[in-house]
Amino acid sequence: MYYSPNPISKTSNYLLLKNALFISGGALKAGNMLIKDGKVFSFPNNTDNLSKIKTIDARGLICMPGIVDIHTHFRLKLGEHNYNSDDFESGTKAALSCGITCVADFTDQDPGDSFLSGIKKRIKDAKKSYCDYSFHCIVPSFSKMKNFSLEVKKAADSGAFTFKIFTAYSKRGLMLSSREIRQMLKEAKRNKAAVFVHAEKEEDIEKNSLKYANLKKKNPMKAFPFIRSEVTELNAVKEVIKLNEDIKAKLYFVHISSPLSAAEIKKASERMPVRAETCPQYLIFSDKIYSKKDAYLYSCCPPVRSPNASLKLWDFLNKGVLSAVSTDSCGFSVKMKKSWGGDLDKLYMGISSAQFLFPLIYTFGVRKKRITLERLKALCCENPAKFAGFSKKGFLKKGYDADFFLFDPKECFFVSKKSLLNSCGYSVYEGFKLWGKVKKVFLRGKIAYDGGKVFKPMGAYVKRTPPFFNSR
Ligand SMILES: [Zn+2]
Repeated sequence: MYYSPNPISKTSNYLLLKNALFISGGALKAGNMLIKDGKVFSFPNNTDNLSKIKTIDARGLICMPGIVDIHTHFRLKLGEHNYNSDDFESGTKAALSCGITCVADFTDQDPGDSFLSGIKKRIKDAKKSYCDYSFHCIVPSFSKMKNFSLEVKKAADSGAFTFKIFTAYSKRGLMLSSREIRQMLKEAKRNKAAVFVHAEKEEDIEKNSLKYANLKKKNPMKAFPFIRSEVTELNAVKEVIKLNEDIKAKLYFVHISSPLSAAEIKKASERMPVRAETCPQYLIFSDKIYSKKDAYLYSCCPPVRSPNASLKLWDFLNKGVLSAVSTDSCGFSVKMKKSWGGDLDKLYMGISSAQFLFPLIYTFGVRKKRITLERLKALCCENPAKFAGFSKKGFLKKGYDADFFLFDPKECFFVSKKSLLNSCGYSVYEGFKLWGKVKKVFLRGKIAYDGGKVFKPMGAYVKRTPPFFNSR
């Protein structure tokens, strides 16, 4: 009897992935996946009638949906003609090699310029991107924007449904007043958009800076976590939640470093749509690094916390108090980091981590039994795709983009300078032994990375749909 579950059409492009291990209901199950024209088409049990199609045998390898990293900083503008070290070419090359197939970065339009012009400018920056990309609209203090309400609508209508606000960085014109935050929340609600929040209370940071002035002078890196303390984060989180109490717009807190803030967000999530992410540095490092001689190379905002806090964050990821892991990858060369000359206020803040997100979370999370592989999939693929409105990413389901990667759970590697694809010249993870070696990465059904080789940049701009906050 001839059995044809998937009639093959001559005008379409097919790829068959055979014998891969898929994560299904808490277990690994061997199966096949048929890709048609860059989309997931079916999961055929019987592949006898598909013998003429290009086939990849993935025996022994686990197939994961491509990781959706909704927090990156590539070609971050720091001032006139001054950018961080990773541009879209090096940053996404590093990201893709470890299974990130889609990133969401940020616009950087000048105050007064429209969000749409900001997006247009950044699409040009991302021309040589190796993975797909989109942009959250940065909302600088918008007193200079002519018709704020209309500009938010235009951005959302164009497929950009996420807006990023700050509760600090007034000197860079990024800090919003309470009145402005409320206005943003209302516009977000009206346009089915989400507001991404950088939560650190500037007033607290300034007070702490005075309080720890002596330590700051003597040992700036040791003073750093006291100045930008857990409470500065918690207070900002509380304030923004309070401002959203009656509006109930979708809120997403980026780079949560403290379990105190995470618990507060969880409590609020019982009455409003609010979710939060953390980043690898808060899970893997602790404030002990600030005693290191080269502690400045590890600088990021907010700072990393105590060893206990870090363990608590893992527990919160497991229990759904925290709902996503993003990189906040922001690379600086050693030269740029060194230029601080001991002045904390001049130190470039950020860690390049896009190349190691998956193996880090796999090694320190899954192998240490802090989370399951299925939970990793939710935290790195499914949830971020929903929270940022990537409606065809993050899942391996019929009709979704065939973005996926294959990794060998039995193979490990050491992070070494030689293998870095970023343009920083160093990694804070140097020498780490990591498991979960990524072997092949596919972007919209096409091979993009294979055993150490990254193919040509194939990334495209992704228009999004309203964010979905139904999981945690
Ligand atoms: Zn960031």
